[in-house]
Amino acid sequence: MPIVRLTDVSKAYPSRVAGDAEILAVDDVSLSIEKGDVFGIIGYSGAGKSTLVRLINALEPATSGSIHVDGVDITALPERALRTVRGGIGMIFQQFNLFSSRTVKANVAYPLKLAGWSKADIEERVAELLSFVGLADKAKAYPEQLSGGQKQRVGIARALATKPAILLADEATSALDPQTTHEVLDLLKRVNEEQGVTIIVITHEMDVIQTIATKVAVMERGRVIEQGDVFDVFSAPQNPASQRFVGTVVKGIPSPSELAVLRERHRGRIVTFSFRDGDSSQAQVFLDLAAAGLDFELVYGGINDIRGRAFGHLTLAIRGEAAAIDRALTAIAARVEVTEIAGEEAR
Ligand code: ADP
Repeated sequence: MPIVRLTDVSKAYPSRVAGDAEILAVDDVSLSIEKGDVFGIIGYSGAGKSTLVRLINALEPATSGSIHVDGVDITALPERALRTVRGGIGMIFQQFNLFSSRTVKANVAYPLKLAGWSKADIEERVAELLSFVGLADKAKAYPEQLSGGQKQRVGIARALATKPAILLADEATSALDPQTTHEVLDLLKRVNEEQGVTIIVITHEMDVIQTIATKVAVMERGRVIEQGDVFDVFSAPQNPASQRFVGTVVKGIPSPSELAVLRERHRGRIVTFSFRDGDSSQAQVFLDLAAAGLDFELVYGGINDIRGRAFGHLTLAIRGEAAAIDRALTAIAARVEVTEIAGEEAR
């Protein structure tokens, strides 16, 4: 049973301009998040990600559709019961949202106090959490004395205090530099792997998805336009918007301007071969081209690694008789993905 399931969920807001049509911030979204997933939701600003988060943690009601959290349909619950649902979901934020007038320890203790834990239990739990996030020596410090990465560690400790099954990370690394981003993502990976917490990561950065997520949903104008295993979406994105996102991090795909340069510098037909873990070997492609009597040259390429699985793209300039090239490409296309850059005949 999925831990979070959205079925045909929409959220409409009245337009900010009187008389205009309403804004469909989330438009007919269905998705399933399994226990133990690190589920990434990516999209540009305005795509509807934050709205989706507010629906999942029951801060706002959906306009239509149903949302199940841990098997319970939260769209039908009264406010009192919604508070229990919210208690099972921890949240971390881009701006950390720590209490600046309280110490690190008091920040982490705060949700436990609210939940009515005893003083001794709070002591013990806070010590355990600060040690887990590597800040045992900062218990008495105030947020302003900490670096951005340390503040987010406090945010994570506080979000995990009451042992929620789900952690929602809303642009949690967007205010951090790349090095600190990776430290925080490593910590989130440990939260997922060592504590079994399901993590939902909202981001506009593909790098974050590549580093930590196991599944991904791509959002555009309120809709989920593509979703699946991160490896599948990264190695073979189907939708143009996903292809643009993937293009920002995946190595080996020439950009339009790079392609123009390749065309200028190399004679022949420019063809990209995309290899995925388990596909037939690159050597076999080279052997097939050679056996067909074709001349070829490797002009662009790159290999990517997603959690230990590899995929890559090699671009070749191929020269020879047009019909022979067509025959060879057709045969190869049965085994690996072949993309010919259109409009260039053998010169
Ligand atoms: P994202 O988090 O991907 O940047 P949002 O969920 O914040 O996207 O916004 C999606 C769309 O819904 C945007 O067009 C935004 O202007 C609109 N929107 C979000 N919240 C409200 C609101 N409370 N009232 C009216 N429109 C809203």
